[in-house]
Amino acid sequence: MSQPLCLDAEIYLAVLSALPDAVVVADLGGALLFCNAAAETLLPGGIAGLGGSGDRPDYQVLDQQQWPLVPSELPLGRVLAGQHLHNEEFILAVGHPHQTHWVACSGSLSSGMALLTLRDISAAKQQEASLVQQAFYDPLTGLPNRHLFVDRLGQALACAQDNPQRVMALLVIGLERFKLINDNLGHQVGDEMLVELGTRLQAQVGPDNAVARLGGDEFAILLDNLTSYASAIALTETIHAMVQQPFGLQQVSVNASIGVAFGAKTYQSAFDWLRDADAAMDQVKDHPDRAWQVFDSSLRVQKDLRLQTEVDLRQAIDRGELRLHYQPIVTISNEEIRGFEALVRWQHPTRGLLMPGEFIDVAEASGLIIPLGWWVLTEACRQMQVWTEQYPAMAEFTVSVNMSSKQFSQQHLVEKIQKILLNTGFVANRLKIELTEGVLIDHSDSIIATLQQIRALGIKLLVDDFGTGYSSLSYLHRFPFDCLKIDRSFIENADQDFEKLEILQSVVRLAWNLGLDVVAEGVETSRHHAQLKALRCELGQGYLYSRPLAPDAVEAMMAKKAALLSDLPTVTRPA
Ligand code: C2E
Ligand code: MG
Ligand code: MG
Repeated sequence: MSQPLCLDAEIYLAVLSALPDAVVVADLGGALLFCNAAAETLLPGGIAGLGGSGDRPDYQVLDQQQWPLVPSELPLGRVLAGQHLHNEEFILAVGHPHQTHWVACSGSLSSGMALLTLRDISAAKQQEASLVQQAFYDPLTGLPNRHLFVDRLGQALACAQDNPQRVMALLVIGLERFKLINDNLGHQVGDEMLVELGTRLQAQVGPDNAVARLGGDEFAILLDNLTSYASAIALTETIHAMVQQPFGLQQVSVNASIGVAFGAKTYQSAFDWLRDADAAMDQVKDHPDRAWQVFDSSLRVQKDLRLQTEVDLRQAIDRGELRLHYQPIVTISNEEIRGFEALVRWQHPTRGLLMPGEFIDVAEASGLIIPLGWWVLTEACRQMQVWTEQYPAMAEFTVSVNMSSKQFSQQHLVEKIQKILLNTGFVANRLKIELTEGVLIDHSDSIIATLQQIRALGIKLLVDDFGTGYSSLSYLHRFPFDCLKIDRSFIENADQDFEKLEILQSVVRLAWNLGLDVVAEGVETSRHHAQLKALRCELGQGYLYSRPLAPDAVEAMMAKKAALLSDLPTVTRPA
């Protein structure tokens, strides 16, 4: 009879020994009765470290935050005290220097013995950690991502409930023209810059303040426990200066726009807080002379208005709410009209006639500038063709149309322009396209061919607002332009500001040397006119000659000219 029992015990022992989990059996005094091979490996030196008896072992049990457990918390001790453990997670720190294992521990009293099993869950924990890393951290910089950061903001707001005096500032930092760095120096340089920036930001604000990468070129910082609002602003200025320090081997520098929103009392929700800091940052982007902006509620009103404008603008084209006004461009020497610039307006159903300053930014940011731009080009060509047939005096008039960089970088641009000319019957050599310097800088490598193709159709190309960009003179000879439009700011004070006059003079001379026409924008006074005439600037545009005119005003003007039997009309100046 004893034979089978003995065999059973051997089988049990063999099975227990082969188990990957550590199995420990102790008597009610905590002395070891049995442990399998896995337990011997996992628990070098015995079970005293778990709360059993015996010598000091070669490991320590830590909680999930890596704090050593106090004796009353040790798992075997708790089982001996009658507790039932089910998959409780601990860390075993084994050896010197120690190696850590995550273990899931289960145990209970049975037949007057304490039974404990420990499963090594280190691999699963590692996998979990890497999933957390992927879900909550930015893979490039290793900083918390937007999800985690929003969570931290929420925690900070919750803590601040008990301490309403606490000053916290949320900074959202956006880099200016970061895309240019990626496009011109390559993504690797861009990436290195972002990593370096993350490190700099964290070093600047210290480990107690959370830094995150929200995405793309946007970072955020939560400044916690500030002493005053002034200290937050001082730190914001330091951070702004620090971002501007050159990066890497190439010594690339960027500018940053920083939006600040003060937290604690004002916010219930992390999302609202972040939204407001974002709105403040957008405000800085719209004002290049500013480095930072603190959110105030008027910005929220502005942001809501922008959003509403975007929603309305989406429908404006289909609903036929866009209009074109035409501002005459004249020969300065005799004030005869040579053509018009077509300028878009929006007949908003409730807000009245809106000027481009009230919606072009929104159109640019939302991409609506593309359909808007195609509508403008089509309408300008259509209207000019109608007038050409109606008024013989307009047969040579040109029309200038503004084109945004987004529209310019569209595919099949040249074919689309060609199609519009074909459909409207307007001739290419009376069409001028105005581009700003930004277009040239963003795509300097690929655009020359497109410009040449447009020009090959017979269309003239103009640089608009010349002098307001940053590489004004250097690129001119590289691009096939026909005309420079000197920005209004140079004309404005040229009669009082000698430096402005000098610049104006040299731009006119430069244009001559390059074989380009010049249009002076913003001619408002007779003095401007006289000065430009003296400089022998050929063409002018401005309120002195005429404001932009609605189509019926153009028609009235042309009808009046026709009645006076003048073939080359001049604009009647206001008294
Ligand atoms: P821009 O292309 O430089 O157009 C000239 C702007 O200067 C026009 O403003 C015109 O009304 C204004 N202006 C003309 N003469 C004078 C003057 O003597 N004094 C002053 N103070 N201003 C003068 P507007 O119509 O408000 O257009 C502003 C800007 O909006 C335009 O500047 C252009 O950049 C943009 N824009 C207008 N229409 C379009 C369009 O169809 N497409 C695109 N992409 N942009 C457009
Ligand atoms: Mg223009
Ligand atoms: Mg302009």
